[in-house]
Amino acid sequence: MSKADRERIELSVHPDVVLDAEALRRAAAKAAGLRESDVKGVHVRRRAIDARRGKVRLHLEVALDLPGMPWREPAIAPIDLPTLTGPVEVAIVGAGPAGMFCALELARLGVRAVIVERGKPVQPRRHDLAALAKHGVIDPDSNYCFGEGGAGTFSDGKLYTRADKRGEVAGVLRAFVGYGAPHDVLVDARPHIGTNRLPRVITAMREHLESAGVTIAFETRAEGLVVKDGAVVGLRLSRGDTLDVRAVVVAPGHSARDVQRWLHAAGVALTFKPFAIGVRVEHPQALVDRLQYGALAGHPALGSASYRLVEQACGRGVFSFCMCPGGFIVPAATAPEEQVVNGWSPSSRRGRFANSGFVVEVGADLVAASGRSPTDPLAGVALQSELEHRAYAAGGGSFVAPAQRIDDFVAGRPSLELPETSYPRGVVPVELDAVLGALAGPMREALQRVGARMPGFVGSSGIAVALESRTSCPVRIDRTDDGQSSSHPGLFPCGEGGGHAGGIMSAALDGGRVARWIAKWLGRG
Ligand SMILES: Cc1cc2nc3c(=O)[nH]c(=O)nc-3n(C[C@H](O)[C@H](O)[C@H](O)COP(=O)(O)OP(=O)(O)OC[C@H]3O[C@@H](n4cnc5c(N)ncnc54)[C@H](O)[C@@H]3O)c2cc1C
Repeated sequence: MSKADRERIELSVHPDVVLDAEALRRAAAKAAGLRESDVKGVHVRRRAIDARRGKVRLHLEVALDLPGMPWREPAIAPIDLPTLTGPVEVAIVGAGPAGMFCALELARLGVRAVIVERGKPVQPRRHDLAALAKHGVIDPDSNYCFGEGGAGTFSDGKLYTRADKRGEVAGVLRAFVGYGAPHDVLVDARPHIGTNRLPRVITAMREHLESAGVTIAFETRAEGLVVKDGAVVGLRLSRGDTLDVRAVVVAPGHSARDVQRWLHAAGVALTFKPFAIGVRVEHPQALVDRLQYGALAGHPALGSASYRLVEQACGRGVFSFCMCPGGFIVPAATAPEEQVVNGWSPSSRRGRFANSGFVVEVGADLVAASGRSPTDPLAGVALQSELEHRAYAAGGGSFVAPAQRIDDFVAGRPSLELPETSYPRGVVPVELDAVLGALAGPMREALQRVGARMPGFVGSSGIAVALESRTSCPVRIDRTDDGQSSSHPGLFPCGEGGGHAGGIMSAALDGGRVARWIAKWLGRG
């Protein structure tokens, strides 16, 4: 057997097998067509759980230790960066995955950037999250969406994407591992890092960038562009000065409504982008485990189960989003009097609850039905904001969430009591139709179908907590094939806030792509 062949042995096994090294060795030998005695050891390189059709199997790709041929996993170190000593040429708005991976790739290509970040580094940011969760006090510049590492820093850290460029996806995953993410993210088909580990990974990445000569200006808001002869040549900052640069990357995430406003006021080409709004549904994790794994629920080789739901209801897409097994629901607003929820999980995913966004597509028709014109690029943001304020009022203030038992919501009756939830600000029973308006119908119909397929999902232990509204950015900053704004040369829209990504991985990938466009434009690519 060749060196390469023994690295890619595929097998499908019962979960018990992966907990028993001898059984796994025998199964791998059989799959490779070798004698058991010839296989000295087995290393799992890819792992996927398949729970379809009521049968749970683990699909593995393994590497074998053969006689005289032990297999060693190649070590992964941070990407090599040159020391940058020249002038700062690029200003990046936002230290989320898009902004940080953009700076990393620019540095690798020898281009020096400064990152401008309104929020704080991860450690002080934690205190602001605690103040929000415990006392309902929000800092509009430091919260679950704003601060070092961006919106995903205190999240489940799911690292999967529908992007199909396998080499580029692997490159981002390897970069995360190089900065301290567990090696398992390269093994699991649906990798995740976990809230407890992500902040350390982000800090290591930032320190590496700083050591190469990249500057990060924390607690500094970008407040406008400097435009000369129609081209962007600088950035205005909240501390009163401007940065004179050759290119500005705007990677502010989905919640930077101030940025959307000043870009619009400057005449930058923006377009309304369809998005989704709904609720976060939560159930006991044990119920989800039973639904997905049946008799194997709780098996140590499987961990906490997840799900993914997609329905068409009332002619509209309704789907689950950002499912967090063993997770917690968090207040994810960025300003006072907005009620927004999201979810996270620790790396163990051992919490008692499973939550996910359950959201309805919001297209131009719903925006028009709300009395706004979809030709106004900020019409979707206005609708999003209106529903968030309505949800806040329905909760009675202080980020207490309006909520309803899922079975009551589907039956169209008020909840007299609510099941226990992980949401830290508390919940009050509210008929969610009053909050969701036109979205309630499609959501009810979709949940009825899910309930018929997954007994207990629409039951008394399930709760719907409002409002899941920051699923993606309702605005796109239009860009051309060379990555620049279609109206303003020198401006490079990037990541989720640019409307060009959704999720940590795709934002990181877009950051790298934008960096290569800039390097090419500067004659360095
Ligand atoms: C609680 C939570 C859990 C999530 N879980 C997951 C998950 O498990 N997996 C996943 O793939 N995705 C998850 N997401 C979504 C994911 O975080 C985003 O898709 C991703 O972070 C987008 O990356 P980005 O770099 O484009 O923008 P962001 O990460 O949003 O970063 C933008 C940055 O820009 C900064 N900024 C904004 N305006 C300004 C300004 N005017 N001046 C200076 N700085 C500014 C912000 O402070 C922020 O740090 C989660 C999001 C949240 C809120």
